[in-house]
Amino acid sequence: MSSDLHHPSLPIPIILIGGYLGSGKTTYLNRLLSEANGRKIAVLVNDFGAINIDASLIEDSVDDVVALQNGCICCSLAMGMQSAILKVLKRDVKPEAIVIEASGVTDPGEVAKILSDEAMRPFASLDLIISMLDCENLSTYQPTELRLIREQLRYSGIVMLTKTERACATNINDAKELVREMNAGAVIVDDYLKILNLDLLLGTQRAAVEIDQKDTSNTPANELFKSWNYSSSVPMSEAEFQTVLNELSPNTVRGKGFVSLKDYPTVRFEFQMVGKAAQVQPKGEWGFQIPKTQIVFIALKS
Ligand SMILES: [Zn+2]
Repeated sequence: MSSDLHHPSLPIPIILIGGYLGSGKTTYLNRLLSEANGRKIAVLVNDFGAINIDASLIEDSVDDVVALQNGCICCSLAMGMQSAILKVLKRDVKPEAIVIEASGVTDPGEVAKILSDEAMRPFASLDLIISMLDCENLSTYQPTELRLIREQLRYSGIVMLTKTERACATNINDAKELVREMNAGAVIVDDYLKILNLDLLLGTQRAAVEIDQKDTSNTPANELFKSWNYSSSVPMSEAEFQTVLNELSPNTVRGKGFVSLKDYPTVRFEFQMVGKAAQVQPKGEWGFQIPKTQIVFIALKS
């Protein structure tokens, strides 16, 4: 891009990172930001749950993370997203680009529609939608989940196949076929390395979707999914934590957050659960933070 760093020209390009719950959006966002080389990128993070775990999982390579939580930017938080973008653009140093990490239940086509609104068009334009597609879990999704994933693929310029190292060849082929079926024009990649160059990404304008053709609104996310928080300031034993997991509703599809374990008082553990697979991994120390177990769970409404 040729624009001056401090006076980027309007409209500011937006990259939307989409993909279903647990598909690898935050991992990709962190990689992208670590390669940004001091470029001025504003980041909007949308979490469906009431606590914005993703915003705290973003490495501090960027000073400008706006959290949009407790709802989804394509339905209940549409206005919130518009005003967050306009607020970012009012700052003295304007960003060269805005990267939005959608919630796992966001339909990017709906976001495209909201951003193409006349009030927004002079200020920001959606340049590219990049969606993550989880190859490992693709075969385990329920029909409601698959319907949403298909919509996510329909408007993506680039689809990144994630967790391919843990998926079999059939799963990877099925994933590719699904992308082709929904969106023959999408570029399929299977390595984050291929989609880390912001200059290339911003020049593509692959989001040139026929937004006007999308007039059927989908079911709002909060009718399909519910989210709740588990929170405790008492450090737990591993067995106690396992009990919390065992008592989850079988419809639970996602969990993420931090865990405070009795046996490791100084270590902050990150918790990630995608489908039934849960992982607890050390992620730094609590430092000045008060150790606390805080997890957002998301389940399909039955
Ligand atoms: Zn939504």
